[in-house]
Amino acid sequence: MTGMDIFTNFADLEQKKRNIAILGSTGSIGTQALEVISEQSEILAVSVLTANSNSQLLIEQAKKYQPNTVVIADESKFQEVRDALWDDDIKVFAGIDALSEVVELDEIDFVLTALVGYAGLKPTINAIKAKKQIALANKETLVVAGALITKLAEQNAVNIYPVDSEHSAIFQCLVGEFHNPIEKIYLTASGGPFRGFTKDRLLNVTPTQALKHPNWDMGAKITIDSASLMNKGLEVIEAKWLFGLKAEQIEVVVHPQSIIHSIVQFEDGSMKAQMGLPDMKLPIQYALCYPKRVKNEFKRFNFLDYPELTFESADTETFRNLELAYDALHREGNAACILNAANEVVVDAFLKEKVKFMEMPELIEKSLDKIPFIAEPTYDDYVQTDNETRSLIKELI
Ligand code: NAD
Ligand code: MG
Repeated sequence: MTGMDIFTNFADLEQKKRNIAILGSTGSIGTQALEVISEQSEILAVSVLTANSNSQLLIEQAKKYQPNTVVIADESKFQEVRDALWDDDIKVFAGIDALSEVVELDEIDFVLTALVGYAGLKPTINAIKAKKQIALANKETLVVAGALITKLAEQNAVNIYPVDSEHSAIFQCLVGEFHNPIEKIYLTASGGPFRGFTKDRLLNVTPTQALKHPNWDMGAKITIDSASLMNKGLEVIEAKWLFGLKAEQIEVVVHPQSIIHSIVQFEDGSMKAQMGLPDMKLPIQYALCYPKRVKNEFKRFNFLDYPELTFESADTETFRNLELAYDALHREGNAACILNAANEVVVDAFLKEKVKFMEMPELIEKSLDKIPFIAEPTYDDYVQTDNETRSLIKELI
């Protein structure tokens, strides 16, 4: 793993609790992370909680878990949160800048990036510069600026622990392999709610249908990404940066049962897979407690419930987003930043029924062709690319 010593011992865990800042504590990953932290309260503690605008849940979580600090990104909710937590001795900040500043607090050991989208970029950069270990759920950050993030992580000797289930699987397969090179990896994909659909059948699918994921209960944006196969595309790019791979070394295989979470193939042809029931609490716990495997009460897998595990290839002819993501990966530079920004806008528009399902890849492809290419983008270039792409897509819609 880039810039990463995956053989750290767990002496630190035995000496003191790990203090965790959760960016996006009110979301799907955030709420599950809070359950993990409270189940493992002998070694983990909550230090900071943040939310975009769900003030009620943030207040409830703060009262229950007693962090030192909370941030609400939506400034109009500041008064409400501050008043509610006045007697709890919890510091309250508001605004998007506060999110980037709070990760620098001395007491924090780990920052769990569980917020969604491009908004994760700036706080992740600041957390790395402040030498905080990163548990990364927010894949968009690596998609947008993987080159910059992995370089910063290396310079600051910060490890990036994957939370995404596929990447956690790869990571778990690599532990103990010392310097054995990876020949290739297989990322598994459930195929989402529209697996097997033809183009015609996809023309009029609705947000409600797309939000019904067969195996995982997740936030709205990633659920739409799963239905359109963009999620797998983003994960291919995420894997490239986490594990230092070339596009040709990353293959996607559809596995509808979501039991095998991903596979590493080594240079002797041996393949290692990580498997278990689909439950994000396991990869969250593994990232936060690494390298320790801590006993828990999560439901165990039973072979007889799954007499058949099946595999098929992804239909990239129908679901074009996966190809577009590989295309962005080959182009390098700011291409994946364009892909991500375009995708965030079209997903939002699809949820609001302003674009149709099959129009999403068309709009993304147009933005990849129209937004100026930058071979070696700086942070400011990423910001500009993101802005320009969003404006372009809004015009096109
Ligand atoms: P979610 O929509 O359920 O939650 C998002 C959280 O981020 C909320 O707490 C929200 O308040 C906060 N947030 C949203 N926009 C924000 C903004 N602009 N500024 C500050 N905070 C903001 O999302 P989720 O499903 O938990 O996903 C979070 C991240 O984890 C995504 O990057 C997703 O791709 C990744 N991920 C999620 C799952 C999953 O099972 N949910 C699995 C793998 C990876
Ligand atoms: Mg995943």
